[in-house]
Amino acid sequence: MIRRLCLIGVGLIGGSLVRGLREKRLCGRVVGCGRSLDNLHHAIKLGVIDELDADPASAVAGADMVVLATPLGAMPGVLARIAGHLDEDAVLTDVGSAKQAVIDAARTAFGGLPAGFVPGHPIAGTEHSGVEASFATLFENRRVILTPTASSAAHAIRAVTRMWEAVGAEVVEMSAAHHDEVLAATSHLPHVLAFALVDALARMQDRIEIFRYAAGGFRDFTRIASSDPTMWRDICLANRDAILKMLDSYTDDLGRLRAMIAGGDGERIAALFERAKDARDGRLEAATGES
Ligand code: NAP
Repeated sequence: MIRRLCLIGVGLIGGSLVRGLREKRLCGRVVGCGRSLDNLHHAIKLGVIDELDADPASAVAGADMVVLATPLGAMPGVLARIAGHLDEDAVLTDVGSAKQAVIDAARTAFGGLPAGFVPGHPIAGTEHSGVEASFATLFENRRVILTPTASSAAHAIRAVTRMWEAVGAEVVEMSAAHHDEVLAATSHLPHVLAFALVDALARMQDRIEIFRYAAGGFRDFTRIASSDPTMWRDICLANRDAILKMLDSYTDDLGRLRAMIAGGDGERIAALFERAKDARDGRLEAATGES
C-alpha cells in the first residue's frame, strides 16, 4: 500500500500507473505535478490525481513514493528541483525510456545516487499520449525493467517491484547499459525508421500519390510514427550512442540487401526474407510493449 504517491508528469504512463493502483485500492492520496495547470485540473476531474502542486519541490513533501513520468528531456530539471526535498524514507522511481541518462541526471542533481532511487522502464505504451489516453490495464502482462544502481536499497527495489506487479506487470532487473542497448535495438531503432520512412514518403507525395494508395503493410509498419515527437526526440538524445550503433549496423545490413536486389540475387533475397519470417513468427509473440 502506498500512502501518498507523488506523480510528476501526469500523462499516458504515469496516469495509467495511478489508475491501475487505484483500481486495486493500493494507493492512498495522489498528488500530481506537471507543467500546465490545465492538464493537472483535468487529471483531477478524471479522478487520476486528488490534488495538484505545480512545484516539484513541495509536491514531493510527505510522499512515500515519487514517480517521475515526464518526457526524458524534463527529468534533469525536475530531479534538480526535488533534490533535498524528498522525505528521508521516500522511494523515487522513473519511467524513462532510456536509463543511463536518467541515472546520470540523478547523480548530478543529488550529488550522488540516493538509496531510495530505483530507475525503471515499463515496456508498454501506445502511440497516444496525455492523461486522457491513460488506462488502468496498460501494464497487465507487460514487462517492467528496473535498473537499480549500486546505491539502490533493497527495500526501495522491493517497493517499486511490488508497485508494478500490483498493476499486472512482470518485473525484471538488468544493468542500465544493457537496457539501453536492448531498447535501442527493439524499440528506438524501429521508431526512428518509422518516422524517417513516413517523412521520406511524405516528401515524395508531390510526385507519387503515396498516402492515397497506402494499405495494410504501410499502416502496420508506420503506426508508431504517430507517437509523440517530443518524447522520441528526447529518447534519441538520451540514448544517442546505443541508437547510433544500431543505426550504423542496420545501414550496413540495408546496404547488403540493396546489393542483392541490384544484383538480381533472388536466392539470397529469399533466404534473408525466410530467416526474418522464421525469427518473427517464432519469437515475436513473446515480446510486449512499445517503448
Ligand atoms: P505524456 O503522455 O506526454 O505525459 C508526459 C507528462 O509530462 C505530460 O502530462 C506533461 O504535462 C508532463 N510534462 C512535460 N514536461 C514537463 C516538465 N518540464 N515538468 C513536469 N511535467 C512535465 O508522455 P508519456 O507517454 O506518459 O511518457 C512519459 C515518460 O514515459 C517518458 O519519459 C517516456 O520516455 C516514458 N515511456 C513512454 C512510453 C510510451 O509508449 N508512451 C512507454 C514507456 C516509457 P504538461 O502537458 O502539463 O506539460
